Amino acid sequence: MVIDDSETVRIKITQIIKDKGHEVIEAENGQIALDIITKTLDIDFCICDINMPEMDGLTLVEEVRRRDWDKKNLVFVMCTTETSAGHKMKAKELGVRGWLHKPFKNAQIEQLLEFMAKESNS
Ligand SMILES: [Mg+2]
Repeated sequence: MVIDDSETVRIKITQIIKDKGHEVIEAENGQIALDIITKTLDIDFCICDINMPEMDGLTLVEEVRRRDWDKKNLVFVMCTTETSAGHKMKAKELGVRGWLHKPFKNAQIEQLLEFMAKESNS
């Protein structure tokens, strides 16, 4: 799942993932993402922006973690222009698995997909 308020970023990441043969769901903010996560059974992982209207990315991760449900450990990788130590610390506490800095290279998304594919097979 790709969560970002920038349509340009969503299109870019979505295309890379689709090119690798995977399905993608897009959401434009944390609240919409949370609604979709609630209703969708088979989300493997989320590439998630931090700064978004309605609900930011770290609040989304927090919401997913604090609920008593099977999606508690959903894998998140943040993709953001944020560099603040406070945000990174919070992400770590929330069990965020990775941090991609914008602007990212297509190859970084591809590597991430390969990593996730290996993880889910092991
Ligand atoms: Mg943003």
